Amino acid sequence: MSLNRNKKGGISLDEALRAQKERENTYRERALKLFPWVCGHCGREFDGKRLKELTVHHRDHNHDNNPPDGSNWELLCIYCHDNEHSRDQVADAYDSDSPGRPGEKGSGVQAFAGLADLLKGKLPG
Ligand SMILES: [Zn+2]
Ligand SMILES: [Zn+2]
Repeated sequence: MSLNRNKKGGISLDEALRAQKERENTYRERALKLFPWVCGHCGREFDGKRLKELTVHHRDHNHDNNPPDGSNWELLCIYCHDNEHSRDQVADAYDSDSPGRPGEKGSGVQAFAGLADLLKGKLPG
């Protein structure tokens, strides 16, 4: 087996994406430690296997905004979470009167933000 990876000066997209994923796992774990395992909307409780149905919602919808005190997080079950987001889309559609969002923040931007964090060496944990 050869580990032929470039050591410095080149972070592949793969690594950036993995860093982003790790960060997502991190904030989920933090949120689960901070809050009781209850959906903030419907009040259902989750534990064990069903815990994966409980998701971390970002109140300002900015997944890069992860304050350590959890003030931007809300635990929602996948159904309420879905609701929360589709309601926003409906509101947006009525507001702007335009279907489809032209300038939606793409994952590329987030991957790049993660990469910037990597370079600065300030990954959580
Ligand atoms: Zn719910
Ligand atoms: Zn959300």
